[in-house]
Amino acid sequence: MPKFRQRLAEPLARSVHPDSTGPLPCQACGSHALESFYELNNVPAHSCLLLPTRAEALAFPRGDIELVFCNDCGFIGNARFDIGLNQYSAAYEETQAFSPRFLKFLDEICHDQIRKFGLVPGMTALEIGCGKGEFVTKLCELSGCNGIGIDPGYRPERNQSSAAERMTFIRDLYGPKYAHLQAEYVSCRHTLEHIAPVQEFMRLVRDTIGSRHHVNVFFELPDMERVLETGVFWDVYYEHCTYFTRGSLARLFRAEGFDVKGLYKAYDDQYLMIEARPATGPTAPTLPQEDDLASTAALVKKFTREVDARLHELSEAAHRWRRSGQKVAIWGSGSKCVALMSSVELGDSLQSIVDINPHKHGKFLAGSGWEIEGPDALTALRPDAVIIMNSIYTEEIRHELATRGLQPELLPL
Ligand SMILES: [Zn+2]
Repeated sequence: MPKFRQRLAEPLARSVHPDSTGPLPCQACGSHALESFYELNNVPAHSCLLLPTRAEALAFPRGDIELVFCNDCGFIGNARFDIGLNQYSAAYEETQAFSPRFLKFLDEICHDQIRKFGLVPGMTALEIGCGKGEFVTKLCELSGCNGIGIDPGYRPERNQSSAAERMTFIRDLYGPKYAHLQAEYVSCRHTLEHIAPVQEFMRLVRDTIGSRHHVNVFFELPDMERVLETGVFWDVYYEHCTYFTRGSLARLFRAEGFDVKGLYKAYDDQYLMIEARPATGPTAPTLPQEDDLASTAALVKKFTREVDARLHELSEAAHRWRRSGQKVAIWGSGSKCVALMSSVELGDSLQSIVDINPHKHGKFLAGSGWEIEGPDALTALRPDAVIIMNSIYTEEIRHELATRGLQPELLPL
């Protein structure tokens, strides 16, 4: 899902570049106690936009990444994020819904949310930044509730659900003009990490709920603690301008008038889930897992060392493949792949980049200009090694390869 998107309409977006000079304060708490700890220059500004030609992919705008850590709230953001480089549209292809492993996960969280929050017919579930609408649609199918989804990248022709008649989709960025939309359940999945002014965004969400204190709020986003711990630099990319751990996310929610009821990780600990209820003002921490400011600060200090170790391992593998003339393919053409290609030189060994999503086939990867192929391309290529961009799909990909008579060396990242 590591998807998308600047999902905020004007005027919120403007706050990223105030007229004042000098370093920006923390976008989550306003503090100036920021510490820069990781830089990556000249990376593609988008990694999920589909580009129709190689020339457009190669000429795609680039930007810089400078991660800063807030010593006061633990928030991490890209201080050099330029909102002007962001464009989200129907050509945005972030969905992972072609993976059985992912569909199973989607099913599980829908059942879990319906059970926890008692979604039944007559209630309304709202999803801010719904992408292709998989989550809110499944939620409506399984619970019988009504649904509203907001996202500029929504594609109505791809939603064949029987629940569609109870649902409304708005192909736009979320913003103050949608404050009138009321729902008993508000979800926002894999969107917050694409929003720079996160404090302003949470304030907007809180304001739109108003005095309806029975509303349940659920957010899901990538977990930064794992990225910091393991140095998996391919999970840091331009589209993600903000990064949270359990503690920093809970602190933002609490400061903006929510009470945090649930805070946990899912999907092999890759994702962070938060469940909250509106409160009358800021709330105090109550959960032990919120207390991570000191441990996050320590992880930030050793992050570049971990990144160097991962780069070294990959370079060693690339060198080995080149030396022995082996053919390598990458499975997974999303943001992680774009980030990997920006940092590691695979040389002539790399022969193919494949993806299970048919909407990506024949399109080109921003930055490197590689054409994305379907997995069937590997049948003729017979790669010696396959780099798997997300280890959670290893068994699924091993199976896909085996059905094509292939048993290459697998390198799950
Ligand atoms: Zn802060």
